[in-house]
Amino acid sequence: NQKIRIGLVGYGNIGRGVELAINQFPDMEGIAVFTRRNPAEVNSVLPAIKIDDILNYKNDIDVLILCGGSATDLPQQGPELAKHFSTIDSYDNHAKIPAYFEDMDNSAKEGQNVSIISVGWDPGLFSINRALFEAVLPVGQTYTFWGKGLSQGHSDAIRRITGVKKGVQYTVPLDQALEKVRKGLNPSLSTREKHIRICYVVSDEGADQSKIEQTIKTMPNYFEPYETVVHFIDEEQFEKDHQQMPHGGFVIRTGESGAGSKQKAEFQLDLESNPEFTSSVLVAYVRAAVKFKKEGKTGAFSVLDVPMSYLSDKSPEQLRKELL
Ligand code: NAP
Repeated sequence: NQKIRIGLVGYGNIGRGVELAINQFPDMEGIAVFTRRNPAEVNSVLPAIKIDDILNYKNDIDVLILCGGSATDLPQQGPELAKHFSTIDSYDNHAKIPAYFEDMDNSAKEGQNVSIISVGWDPGLFSINRALFEAVLPVGQTYTFWGKGLSQGHSDAIRRITGVKKGVQYTVPLDQALEKVRKGLNPSLSTREKHIRICYVVSDEGADQSKIEQTIKTMPNYFEPYETVVHFIDEEQFEKDHQQMPHGGFVIRTGESGAGSKQKAEFQLDLESNPEFTSSVLVAYVRAAVKFKKEGKTGAFSVLDVPMSYLSDKSPEQLRKELL
């Protein structure tokens, strides 16, 4: 049984996570990391290769995992590469997913490849649960809460403030809001009514901390609409407690079934490392791309189009016996 051969495109947090995750999937093997940087400067375990040479590897790779950023990398790299390789990516710009799907679908069909887009946890496993709960409980309401989790964009915004040496921001779901939802009260809640933002900041020596706090709390869009808490800590504590990238959250649907009985379905993730978990999901979907391709399917698919048994390396018979 030949292993599935995987190429990685880009080596950031997700790239590193995918490289590690592959080791836990016995039917997979990593072949190379393709990067836009000078390969000598990329400290991957797998061989790093200039992205311009990727077409030389067409016969050595079954599926590419695209590990670039959603803002600018994937919209450009995805449609180009889908013409030549089957791909998996974690595109997470929710508003632009339909347009990205179209682009990927056209390219993948042109190249007779399979591209599974927006794989991860949100979009990804959360999307699957939203779709599942809505389908089986048609009368009801679905809620998504995020956190406790580190927000990369908000942490960057804090670090750009004068006098800030180091900073991170965690998004935390508000207990009161979670409780109302879980009780089935069907509240209408905006994002700001569901979450609080907690910041940990190391300030420069002599910096005016009250001014920094004020600047954070009044930052338009990022913090101003939210309840925001700012903690100043020393560098040692920062290094000790804030190096991880935790995340997670909840998808909850409450509703009523036939005779008016109250029903609640809930899915929770509590992740110590967001990139490592996302990467693990990406690697599992490689199996689905390989199976789709074997069946002659081409084009783009999302996690909502992939049957659960396609993610497993067990046979449908084995799955029916062990997990059904
Ligand atoms: P990242 O660390 O910023 O990496 C993105 C790209 O930047 C890399 O592929 C790499 O490309 C380049 N890069 C990385 N480190 C660099 C450095 N030191 N200097 C110069 N370039 C560097 O982003 P990430 O954290 O891996 O996240 C990637 C995407 O995953 C995010 O945009 C997000 O959309 C998505 N994501 C999705 C989910 C989900 O649940 N669906 C969850 C988490 C993340 P080169 O090697 O080509 O330079």
